[in-house]
Amino acid sequence: MAQKPKRTKSGSAWMHEHVTDPYVKKAQQDGYRSRAAYKLLEIDARDHLLRPGMTVVDLGAAPGSWCQVAVQKMKKQGRVLAIDLLPVAPMPGVESLEGDFTEPAALAWLEEKLQSGRVDLVLSDMAPNISGVILSDQARHYELCELALDFAVNWLKPDGAFLVKVFQGVGFEDFRAQMRQAFEQVVIRKPDSSRDRSTEVYLLGRRPLAAQETAVTSAQEEV
Ligand code: SAM
Repeated sequence: MAQKPKRTKSGSAWMHEHVTDPYVKKAQQDGYRSRAAYKLLEIDARDHLLRPGMTVVDLGAAPGSWCQVAVQKMKKQGRVLAIDLLPVAPMPGVESLEGDFTEPAALAWLEEKLQSGRVDLVLSDMAPNISGVILSDQARHYELCELALDFAVNWLKPDGAFLVKVFQGVGFEDFRAQMRQAFEQVVIRKPDSSRDRSTEVYLLGRRPLAAQETAVTSAQEEV
């Protein structure tokens, strides 16, 4: 998990880092709601995830900088469904739910929005509040990741993708193995805008195997 810098007499080191962080300044200048925008921008520049006309589900979306990036990259053609415990201030092209993704109501909301439509891209930047007890923080985080993976596997199109924030350490290899079982391709990404001292990385899974099997079976049934 991210290591919190030690507190100093002159205030918190975190605050110092925050106000001097070039990505924080850049986000303010560029009109993004948080520095997290640059992580998705960097990954998208390399992996070309976002295209006009897509349906994107953004889990752990507040304050909404990934939603902003998605709307921009889709050139306002497409749909973003966003969920967070915290409110995401309204944004054209984004439908949001203030709710807990682990609760059935969140899945019901997504199902109602999607009807039977499939999803092109599932993003999960979810991170639980850190208690400081690394083992339980990691366990809570990977519970969220597994739920997000389960959603992605069930709702992605055969050529869809799932980008998820994970923390290296306990649970990482198990989760990476689950990703490898679920997707044809799994790669690891550490954008420059992700702080070096953080064990945060992103796993990107492409082409869910279950969806491809369903597509083949449906095609065979039609013949
Ligand atoms: N990607 C976001 C952006 O660009 O603005 C930043 C996301 S922030 C790093 C992580 C978010 O995960 C927090 O806003 C937190 O409320 C959310 N989160 C944590 N647990 C959650 C849960 N069970 N359901 C929904 N959101 C959750």
